[in-house]
Amino acid sequence: MKPFWQAKQLDEMTQDEWESLCDGCGKCCLNKLIDDDTEALHFTNVCCELLDTDSGRCSNYPARRKFVPDCVSITPENLSTLFYLPPSCAYRRLAEGRDLAAWHPLRHHGDRSAMIAAGMSVVGRVERESQLSMELEDRIVTWPLRDCD
Ligand code: SF4
Ligand code: SF4
Repeated sequence: MKPFWQAKQLDEMTQDEWESLCDGCGKCCLNKLIDDDTEALHFTNVCCELLDTDSGRCSNYPARRKFVPDCVSITPENLSTLFYLPPSCAYRRLAEGRDLAAWHPLRHHGDRSAMIAAGMSVVGRVERESQLSMELEDRIVTWPLRDCD
């Protein structure tokens, strides 16, 4: 029998199935810049104040909007508008007709070690904005754009 992410369309999933697609990479919680001239999207290694930089997860997901009002919930309805999701993001991969990567935690009974070993997590690579001593433009990085199967 196929796993749910292969058997169902995104808008057919239960809330629990939908939430479980998030691999917890933390890349969507990085500050991003858009080039005024080219409109190219750049990731930085500076993250949201609420991100737990040791785990790569939101430190207060249920109440996050109290602290970060513009934090976006990903839904089947708005997914196509979220152009800033990294190529490795499970939601983006499935929306593009790709499968979950071999390192995705759902393929490892929830274990995130393969995802971290594949270099997909922000853990150990980011700082919060309040810790910043440089301009955001000087913190542009390309590793969040990397993906692998
Ligand atoms: S980029 Fe996608 S998979 Fe990674 S934490 Fe954000 S929503 Fe989850
Ligand atoms: S509030 Fe939480 S989920 Fe939203 S961007 Fe910040 S760390 Fe990520």
